[in-house]
Amino acid sequence: MDLIVTLLITLILPLATGILFIYSDRRKQEPARNEELTSSINGLLPQTQCGACGYPDCHSYAEAIVAGASDIHQCPPGGTDTVSRLAELLEGTALFQHYDTSIDQPPLVAAIDEQLCIGCVKCIIACPVDAIIGAAKQMHSVLPKICTGCGLCIAPCPVECITLALAETRIKRFVWSKPGSTTAGVHA
Ligand code: SF4
Ligand code: SF4
Repeated sequence: MDLIVTLLITLILPLATGILFIYSDRRKQEPARNEELTSSINGLLPQTQCGACGYPDCHSYAEAIVAGASDIHQCPPGGTDTVSRLAELLEGTALFQHYDTSIDQPPLVAAIDEQLCIGCVKCIIACPVDAIIGAAKQMHSVLPKICTGCGLCIAPCPVECITLALAETRIKRFVWSKPGSTTAGVHA
């Protein structure tokens, strides 16, 4: 009996204390680790703050991914570039998710009906990436190469002359589609 008590005191107790210490230390570091991961994820997001992901801004979406409340496929402006970089970043972490091209949202781009545009510049003010050119009382146009398809310019337009359409396929964005899928090679 004494031997067991001695063993308990000399071996198991320090071991248990050590494990407890490591565990509590890890728990203490968790918020800092999560903040660091949130900031890395946020750094990969397009910073359009457009809310297309369902969160008020890019940082909130990054927090949701770290909290496990959202997957990495929710950012339309970021497109496949952002999803594949997020999958790469999260590889090896508990948050890792496969990059699933089948749920990609096809890239969208805004277009202005220049016949209807009254040149009120409200869309220019709304666009987070300066993808619209024009001057007061002059026709406005969207620069498709810059537009992320976030849709933020649509609501402020008083004559509703802005629409979103599928973006033109560019070599940089071409992805072979899965055999049998209906959308042949259009994803961004
Ligand atoms: S033009 Fe419109 S849809 Fe395109 S990035 Fe600007 S606000 Fe978004
Ligand atoms: S908000 Fe609409 S009407 Fe105003 S400048 Fe832009 S496209 Fe033209």
